[in-house]
Amino acid sequence: PEVARQIAAGEVVSRPLDVLRELLENALDAGATRLEIEVEGGGLRRVAVRDNGRGIPAGEVGLAPLRHATSKLPGGLDEVSTLGFRGEALWAAAQAGTLTLLTRPAAQVGATLLTAQGDAVEVARASAPAGTTAAVEGLFAAMPARLRAQAPAAAEVREMVALLGRYVLHHPELSWRLAVDGEIRLGHAPGDFRGGVATVYGPVSANRVLAVEAAGIAGVISRPELTRARRDRLHFAVNGRPVQPPADLEEAVLAGYGELLPSGAAPLTVLNLSVPPAEHNPNIHPSKQLVALAELPALAEQVRAAVAQALAGVPH
Ligand code: ADP
Ligand code: MG
Repeated sequence: PEVARQIAAGEVVSRPLDVLRELLENALDAGATRLEIEVEGGGLRRVAVRDNGRGIPAGEVGLAPLRHATSKLPGGLDEVSTLGFRGEALWAAAQAGTLTLLTRPAAQVGATLLTAQGDAVEVARASAPAGTTAAVEGLFAAMPARLRAQAPAAAEVREMVALLGRYVLHHPELSWRLAVDGEIRLGHAPGDFRGGVATVYGPVSANRVLAVEAAGIAGVISRPELTRARRDRLHFAVNGRPVQPPADLEEAVLAGYGELLPSGAAPLTVLNLSVPPAEHNPNIHPSKQLVALAELPALAEQVRAAVAQALAGVPH
């Protein structure tokens, strides 16, 4: 069972990037408007996310690192199996390293500090501002094979910076800061989609985007004449979660540009899609990066139309 548990935990947390994504998701789920991230030693020494979200009440903190413990299922335990991976992130993080949660709901006097390593959980009183700081330290320190399988720190940091950039693009209304080994690598003050593009790609790119606004679709796309051949610049989020888009959605964007797009060019797009939860399963893979969208053809057509409409007013 010990090996089985390690395999299960490893599917949720196999590298520092996974820890960062899960902690960010939790902070967003908690309604945070300000997120401060610290990464040290390529994320193996420490990944920490501090948020100003709703915090965890003292009486519930001890549940957070338990397997399948989640506060996010109105329907109760029945739904845990259908939702697959929910409630496993903090558990997996505590299996793979040392998890600490320093947390306080705004209305509670005094904070709680939880430390979890494997199944050993300690809870103590503490003091802290409202919100939560979740940290994972010493990732894979007790798992030499895992440790050896890790990418070099610089490569992992690159991916973490890129991941954070995607969150900034899709949530430019929030305040973001990332420090890597004590050095600020990314800072974003709340703004609109164009502001997110300015933070991630710079002011020149920000001046080249047009707003997209349609039912269930919001974001920006680059003016066709100013695109470059970079395939990684199509960014999609579904219900606030950055995802690797199904090929159909990428093709829908290109179809929306139609002949306006120079051949070989790929536009910069940031599109936030809102779909009814029932049509969307984020849990087909533990990383939740892949999504299953029930109404994909209809959604693709909406995306194509929204892009085409945004471009319709552009002189060319
Ligand atoms: P899940 O997010 O799928 O519920 P997790 O293991 O990631 O599972 O988190 C377990 C629980 O811990 C969450 O359901 C939530 O109640 C609580 N939690 C975790 N992180 C935070 C946070 N940053 N702010 C508030 N609550 C949190
Ligand atoms: Mg979570």
